[in-house]
Amino acid sequence: MKKEDNLKLPKQITLAKFAGFCYGVKRAVETVKKLKAENPDKNVSVLGELIHNTDVIEELEALGIKTLKEIPAHGDGICVVRSHGESPEVIEQIKNAGFTPVDLTCPDVKKVQQKAVELAKDGYYVVIVGKSEHPEVIAIKANAKLWSDKVVVATSIDQLKPFETEIKSHKKTGVVVQTTQRITTLNAIVEYLTSISKELHIANTICQSTAMRQSEAKELAKENDLVIVVGSKKSANTTHLAEILKDITRTIHIENDTELDNYRELIEKAEKIGITAGASTPQNIIEKVIKKIEKGE
Ligand code: SF4
Repeated sequence: MKKEDNLKLPKQITLAKFAGFCYGVKRAVETVKKLKAENPDKNVSVLGELIHNTDVIEELEALGIKTLKEIPAHGDGICVVRSHGESPEVIEQIKNAGFTPVDLTCPDVKKVQQKAVELAKDGYYVVIVGKSEHPEVIAIKANAKLWSDKVVVATSIDQLKPFETEIKSHKKTGVVVQTTQRITTLNAIVEYLTSISKELHIANTICQSTAMRQSEAKELAKENDLVIVVGSKKSANTTHLAEILKDITRTIHIENDTELDNYRELIEKAEKIGITAGASTPQNIIEKVIKKIEKGE
């Protein structure tokens, strides 16, 4: 690259404190590596991507840790349940295939599963605020469904409308929320449910790590004229983070430093840049982004 093609250096770059791996992701990555190190002769695999990050998945593959797209008919060795959790049925299928399951569901996700089960057992109409196709939500729903048919998933009032009559006639409604959801989504649904439920119990199960990351990033957005969110576009918490910040300041969501090239003009114009990252973004990717901006490459 010619010298004159370099980015003009911004006046100030601020990195968020809560940028990158949360404790649930850190725990999952470290434990899987330890499992392989302690069991070099055994197959160690993970059902689904351990985290939404290609570099980490490749690093695990290089260590001999496989990512399974689905449960094979026959398997052996260890099969890890990732931090999103799985339904009891899937864990049974893992065992039936011949694997020893190791459950690395994040303790915060476990709490949501337990709360949803508790509400279902206690006769509540269970509303899970979350994306129906997200693995964490699929597992929460499957756990609650073992105890009751009255379980519904929604991220908007429109998605709940078809159940309005049922909810109105039910004696009580209970709410849990996907750990990485936006608080505004929960609030909108709670307001609607308040107007149609006889009795309402709300468990705000957004995890602390997500809540702190979002609240710190909002402050960062107020103080900077550009915020860069680093992390996979498949990651729910990273995508939500970018959505929240877009309402406050100019925000770009990139997966890695290479993507900075698409935003040269915006970066050049910015006087103050804030940088944050999703819970599945490794430190080295964040560092590369900062270095590239600092060097003006
Ligand atoms: S984002 Fe929260 S719930 Fe999800 S793995 Fe991290 S700490 Fe656990």
